[in-house]
Amino acid sequence: MMLIYPNFNIEALDEQLNAYVEQIKAEFADRDDTELNMSYQLQEFNQLYSLAVFVNSDEKDQVLTYVFDKQGKVFYEFEDLFDVKLMGEFASLIKYELDRQDEKANQSLTYRIGLQPKAENFKNFFFDEDGLIFYFDEGQCFDDLQIHEVKLSYEQVAPYLKLELSLPVLETYDELLYQNSKPIDPSQPMVALTFDDGPNRYTDDLLDALLEHQASATFFVLGSMVERFPKTVQRMVLEGNEIGNHTMNHKQLSKCSPSEIDEEISKAQMMIESITHIEPSLLRPPYGEKSDFITQVWQNDVVFWDIDTRDWASKDVKKIIDVVMSEVRDGAIILLHDIYPTSVQAAIELIPLLQEEGYQLVTVSQLIEHRSSLHSVLSQ
Ligand code: ZN
Repeated sequence: MMLIYPNFNIEALDEQLNAYVEQIKAEFADRDDTELNMSYQLQEFNQLYSLAVFVNSDEKDQVLTYVFDKQGKVFYEFEDLFDVKLMGEFASLIKYELDRQDEKANQSLTYRIGLQPKAENFKNFFFDEDGLIFYFDEGQCFDDLQIHEVKLSYEQVAPYLKLELSLPVLETYDELLYQNSKPIDPSQPMVALTFDDGPNRYTDDLLDALLEHQASATFFVLGSMVERFPKTVQRMVLEGNEIGNHTMNHKQLSKCSPSEIDEEISKAQMMIESITHIEPSLLRPPYGEKSDFITQVWQNDVVFWDIDTRDWASKDVKKIIDVVMSEVRDGAIILLHDIYPTSVQAAIELIPLLQEEGYQLVTVSQLIEHRSSLHSVLSQ
């Protein structure tokens, strides 16, 4: 059993959810031959929250949905949000979409009953970012044991909704990609914060702080972690940070054969490019090792550092900050690791501190562009 469900500090909702969880637990209490999963999705939509709780097992598939205001005082049912006078037309729209899932379904009585224009048939819906999803319980329309869903665009559903929709304009990743550039004054001091071994679950907090202070950093990511946190990696790029290659699996390259080195680097390169649509031009070998073979397979800049915070050893916010503030100078590349909460916390505090001292926080490529002969960068 893996039951993941939210708690809102909204009494009416929490009570219902807890009761539902207890009921499901009781149902499956003496079943050790089956697996049970509960998960949920939450989306903010036009000043409302939309919640869907999914239960999934070999023999039971179920979804519960709620739409409520942000204070948790008002809960909205189908009739509150949709114009019931247009129910017939709306039901045919849904049916039209569902017909594609099984073209013979129309002949079944279950299907016709399950999609009759009644509010109770459409009680489970979820306002997603880019469209409205309707869920149909197992056996409601199709003769199988699955939940079926239909997603309609907001353009399709607008005529049936009582809400005045204010929809965010969704731009695609590629449309957003080259929009973020922060101004740099080359005559003023600048440093590059660099973070190795991520991304990790702490990285988003760091990105929030960078964004808040209009600062940039460089992330030397591992291909294996990029695969696990694709959205964080895309965020890095969209918010004006740089991504460098730190290999696929953090192997000690001096102990690898030339073909292994090639593979470790090129796999990460491909992984990063497939997710961010940008090919990194910087490499930082694991452990900052200098190996002759690297320069044979990597034709671009290899980046080391000037200030080693030894954050991985101290795991001490104050010590990390002290090292940076006592060693900082114009053109410095600072080494940190966003896989430790202490390092991320130190960085969150360092960003405004460094800016107050007059340092612009730039990416390594920007530093290379504006400062000649950086001794910790090996230019190819
Ligand atoms: Zn590393």
